[in-house]
Amino acid sequence: MTVEIYEPAASVALACFAHPDDAEVLCGGTLARLAAQGARVVLVVATRGDKGLARVDDAEERRTGELLEAAAILAIADVVQLRYGDGDLSNDLELRRRLVTVLRSFAPQLVLGPDPTTVFYGGRLYNHRDHRELGWALLDAALPAASQPGYFPEAGEPIGPLEVLLAGSEEPNSAVDVSAYLERKVEAVRQYRSRLGAADGVLADAVVGRAVDAARSVGIPGAAELFRRVEGAG
Ligand SMILES: [Zn+2]
Repeated sequence: MTVEIYEPAASVALACFAHPDDAEVLCGGTLARLAAQGARVVLVVATRGDKGLARVDDAEERRTGELLEAAAILAIADVVQLRYGDGDLSNDLELRRRLVTVLRSFAPQLVLGPDPTTVFYGGRLYNHRDHRELGWALLDAALPAASQPGYFPEAGEPIGPLEVLLAGSEEPNSAVDVSAYLERKVEAVRQYRSRLGAADGVLADAVVGRAVDAARSVGIPGAAELFRRVEGAG
């Protein structure tokens, strides 16, 4: 698949991911760029991220604090937490109703989320269930549910068609130049101290390396983030 340079534009952009830190790692540069362009950027985090830490007594508070610090660095305007437990996401009616409610209340033109078709990473790893379930639920909530009044009539007024950018895709077709926002992305990722511990330098290097490789793969200097872009479905 050919990967083309894509210039994101929206007055409202909504990113929805399963865990705290998913959005920053996968598309933090694009979110910072959209905010710098004047978009209202909304971040919806579906789970508490509570099982990713060794100590679980104060995991939720710590992860929420880090999430808000990271969001501030990216100039994200609104953070919505759905507060599911880690591993509890299913693409069911209740999750879709909650996602449709959020989509209708912010009425974005651009939605960013995880590509649910990403299952295996070669022969070594496979994708977290929460990422897959949330990705499908978000797609199903965005189209057709959010735009058609017959779906979840209690969840607000239907919104117009959406453009969708799916991050973490094995089949990207679009690259967003985030060269001017790479430092901010790294800084946002580094806020997740409770997960990173002593590995924070390693992760920062990995984030930079991936962004530089993404830019190189589409023949531009600097840094990029790759997406599967779905235009105007609805
Ligand atoms: Zn995750």
